[in-house]
Order: sequence, then structure tokens, then C-alpha cells
Amino acid sequence: MHVPNIPSLTAADPQVAELVHAEAQRQFDKIRLIASENYVSTAVLEATGSVLTNKYSEGYVGRRYYEGQQVIDQVEQLAVARAKELFGVEHANVQPYSGSPANLAAYLAFLEPGEKVMGMALPMGGHLTHGWSVSATGKWFESVRYSVREDTGRVDMDEVRDLALAERPKMIFCGGTAIPRTIDFPAFAAIAEEIGAVLVADIAHIAGLVAGGAHPSPVGHAPVITTTTHKTLRGPRGAMIMTDAAHAKAIDKAVFPGLQGGPHNHTTAAIAVALGEALQPSFATYAHAVVANAKALAEALVERGFDLVSGGTDNHLILIDLTSKDIAGKPAAQALDRAGIELNYNTVPYDTRKPFDPSGIRLGTAAVTTRGLGVEEMPQLAEWIERAVVGEDADKIALEVSEFMAGYPMPGFAAS
Ligand SMILES: *Cc1c(COP(=O)(O)O)cnc(C)c1O
Repeated sequence: MHVPNIPSLTAADPQVAELVHAEAQRQFDKIRLIASENYVSTAVLEATGSVLTNKYSEGYVGRRYYEGQQVIDQVEQLAVARAKELFGVEHANVQPYSGSPANLAAYLAFLEPGEKVMGMALPMGGHLTHGWSVSATGKWFESVRYSVREDTGRVDMDEVRDLALAERPKMIFCGGTAIPRTIDFPAFAAIAEEIGAVLVADIAHIAGLVAGGAHPSPVGHAPVITTTTHKTLRGPRGAMIMTDAAHAKAIDKAVFPGLQGGPHNHTTAAIAVALGEALQPSFATYAHAVVANAKALAEALVERGFDLVSGGTDNHLILIDLTSKDIAGKPAAQALDRAGIELNYNTVPYDTRKPFDPSGIRLGTAAVTTRGLGVEEMPQLAEWIERAVVGEDADKIALEVSEFMAGYPMPGFAAS
């Protein structure tokens, strides 16, 4: 059952209510290791489900195109103030609908169509919106891509510098979706400065770790920082762009009226709530626990003969190359899902298989840490992962998993 319950939805539309309940039960029963997912608090859920969704408020605080902003202005102001305090930035825009439009706003702010961007290649751990070919950012802009080294699985900053000097992009993205190691923001900043490019740090995955002091901050190195709010930061689905004072106006203009219409005010309120939670000392404890769990899980997986890209992790994320286990990423991910362990198949650097059926799987510990699992539990997770990957009876493992997870409360849900 939900906390709060959904009696009105159940009465008005039992079909949808049933699906919502089923998804909640699924999230309760499974070990959720998708690196970009989390469980938000009941407070965040309530803000997301509030009447703020009824209001239009194109524009910014004190400069709106619709009347009736007495309350909404305060909501947005609160979210902005908390973002500035939490990350120590000069300016924050909390209106982007999600991470992809936030990144598109950076293009609109600083590049003309056809100009050059540099980002990490998608198969190496970058994001589609960092100039990958199938993305609008790769179609409408010229893009060059850096990689990780084949021998270390890590970004080589000398290679990034050589590419930047040869190609002279106007904008550089650092960050990505499958990077298990610390991002060297000062080194990226030095390269961007050398060629006069705008450095955009996309911290979508690690924002919660940065907020909690468990990963170095890009603030003071990258003048523009984009992030989602729903991954390790544990807020609603949304995004923010944080900048220094010099880049603030260009970003604000790009988000509105450049790309978007009215902001999603219920999301803005929920972002404010999540940022308020992240300002509590307990959030720093959470962020460090996420990393400790990832390191413990990585160690337990290595002991069981799994081959980890870069050999381990510095953050919440683990990338496994399954080649040595004689199974591809997709069938492994499907077997794991049947066994109650949810994650995604993923390319590994220099993958010899196709992107739709790659060699790896990606895991993250943000969600299980929210459920209250600690380093002592990680060897058990590694054992289940191995048993599922080698083809042991999935139903049997799934039962063990759901019995185990029943001991760990889920925000917004009470087992009935
Ligand atoms: C998740 C992610 C995004 C995109 O976020 P959406 O909200 O899914 O659009 C952008 N950049 C990085 C690095 C991400 O991990």
C-alpha cells in the first residue's frame, strides 16, 4: 500500500491505480541496481503530487507572463536558494524539464548550429546529449569525442588535451552515464581555458555524491554545471543548471524562452524538498554510504571473478565486462531481472559486440543504500548476481531476494 494512499485514484480509475500499486510492489520486492535510479522520500512524492501542477508560470521569479504568482514565485525562489546553498554556486536555474533539455540549453546558450562540441563518446560512458550522432546534439552540431584508455578503462587527460588542441571545440562536456571513476574537473578546466572553450560539467549521475561531499565538486572549475535531480540527488524527475555569474543570463535565456514554456511547478516544489533533505547532515552520511556500498559490492564481485571496467569504482557505479563469464550483457540482465535483481545491459569500452546486445552490465548502489542496505549486505548481493548470471533457477533466487528486501523499508510504501 502507498503512504500516502491513493484512494481517489483507486475509486476513479482502478485500472491505473492497480498499475501504480503493482509498480510500487515491484520496486519493493526487487534489488534495484539501475545506476540512475533511486527512491524519493514521501515528502518529495507529496510535493510532486500537489496542486502546484495546476499553475502556469512562464518566465522567472518576479518576471512572469501570467498572473497569480504570489505563491509559485516563493516556491521557485526557495528551490533556487537551496541549490545555491547546497552546491555553493552563484546562480541556479531549476526549470529544465529533465537532463537532456538542460544540456540542450547549454548548446543554445553558447554555440551556433554547426559549431564544435567535445564530449565523451557514448560507448565509452558519455551521454547521448554530449554530441552523439543519433542525438540532435550530434546532428545539429559538429562533435568530437574522447575515450577512455583501453588498458586502464579511465580517461587519459593528456589524450583529452591533445584532441582539444587539435580540434578546438567551443564547448566541452565532462561527465557521463557509465563512469565508475572520479572526474578530474580541474584538469578539464585547464584544457577548456587553454583553448577558450566553455566547460560544462554534467553531474547528472553524481550530483548527490557531490552534494554530500563524496565526490569532488566541479564548482570553481566548470562555469556551467548541468544535473538531473532524480539520480543520486534523490529528488523528483527534473534538472537544474548551475552557473557562475558570468554565464547566468545566457543560460536563463536559453531555458526560457529559448527552449521551454512553463516550468513544472510541482516538480520545482519537489526539487526544493529534495534539496532541503540534501542540506541535512544525514544526506552526507547517505552519500558516503552509497560509495562505501559500491566499493564493497565491487570487491565482492571481483572475488567472484567478475571483470570490472577500470578494476573497481570511486563512486556509486560499477561497470562489469561479462566476456570472461561467457554471457552477453542482455541475456545476463534479463536473467538477473527474473531473479529479482534489476539493472541494465551496457556497452563496455572497446566493446566487440553491438550496442543493442553489448558485453556489459551497469550497476549502481544509490537505491539499495536508500533502502538501508550496508556494506555487510554487499557480498550477499554479489552471490545472487553470480548465481543468476551462471543460470541458476531464477524463481528460487527471486524468492530469496524478495524475502530479504522485505526487511528494508521503502519510502512511500508499506507492505500490506
Ligand atoms: C541521465 C543523464 C542525462 C539525461 O537525463 P534525462 O533526465 O534522462 O533526460 C544527461 N546526462 C547524463 C550524464 C545523464 O546521466
